Amino acid sequence: AKNPVRVLVTGAAGQIGYALVPMIARGAMLGLDQPVILHMLDIELAAEALNGVKMELIDAAFPLLKGVAATTDVAEACKDVNIAVMVGGFPCKEGMERKDVMPKNVLIYKAQASALEKHAAPDCKVLVVANPANTNALILKEFAPSIPGKNITCLTRLDHNRALNQISERLDVHVSNVKNVIIWGNHSSTQYPDVNCATVTTSRGKKFVREIVADDKWLNSEFITTVQQRGDAIIKARKLSSALSAASSACDHIRDWVLGTPKVENCLGTWVSMGVYSDGSYGIQEGLIYSFPVTCKKGEWSIVQGLKIDEFSRAKMDATANELAEEKSLAYSCLN
Ligand code: NDP
Repeated sequence: AKNPVRVLVTGAAGQIGYALVPMIARGAMLGLDQPVILHMLDIELAAEALNGVKMELIDAAFPLLKGVAATTDVAEACKDVNIAVMVGGFPCKEGMERKDVMPKNVLIYKAQASALEKHAAPDCKVLVVANPANTNALILKEFAPSIPGKNITCLTRLDHNRALNQISERLDVHVSNVKNVIIWGNHSSTQYPDVNCATVTTSRGKKFVREIVADDKWLNSEFITTVQQRGDAIIKARKLSSALSAASSACDHIRDWVLGTPKVENCLGTWVSMGVYSDGSYGIQEGLIYSFPVTCKKGEWSIVQGLKIDEFSRAKMDATANELAEEKSLAYSCLN
């Protein structure tokens, strides 16, 4: 039998955490043959609720779950973890702007970076979910210099999955037949959902989405804004932000990263979107955590190279990069 993998979930008493931990314990993140030990962290205020989540996990008697720790001590939570899913963060409440919560999150992510650096397994893989996800991940990377930069990522997979679903509904095909959309940039309303390379498999074979959806106007405007604003639509309907879909896509992100993206089905294969440290690909400045199309193999992601970028895409990719550069300088100004 495999040795258990230790998975940290921060903000584990929150609503995403509550949806996420049973998915991990059931094998949705690391596979049905991979035992796990859950490390759950939350703040003092949520300690009692966190303990309740631990009790429920125990009661669920998951065969793959070999241990559960629930703690408010960051060092203890990070001890020897192989995977860290960072969901905890100071929320942007009604009437607040991103810049109001930036100072709080910068300090949280700086402290958690140090704890991970000191206590996590040296090859720990990190996924940041809490907003502003890209910038929180960047701060984490800066303050955990001994963790390889390639191991620090942020979640844009929910946006990616939402884009696949918009196309699948429009064409009345199952979502698994739609592939290779791209989310470029920030996990914010400036993100650019791109369908220029997306394909759909129908009974008549595989085609580019742009060949089948003749309505360019829909693809170039409503499709994009629907994906960008889907989170708000869910808040309106549920009176709470998305949680089960965020949790599920966090599992998708880690699963594909660790176990690999689906095998090659054309020369470029099937890719997914991940927020990763830019190496300058596609003219995106180095030093930002930016969402790119990636394929993963043997636990490592690589950015899909050589895609043609038209003028329309270029402008949108640059706009979201500019927003990230602004967030970065705001975050750094909070450190001084
Ligand atoms: P949620 O579990 O709903 O959300 C957690 C974080 O995920 C938020 O920052 C949220 O950002 C972000 N997020 C990113 N993508 C999405 C998405 N697609 N849909 C929804 N959320 C998304 O928040 P809760 O308030 O229920 O739980 C947060 C937990 O974190 C609490 O248990 C709290 O105690 C803990 N916490 C920990 C802190 C720390 O570690 N020091 C500090 C403060 C809180 P956004 O709200 O901007 O959408």
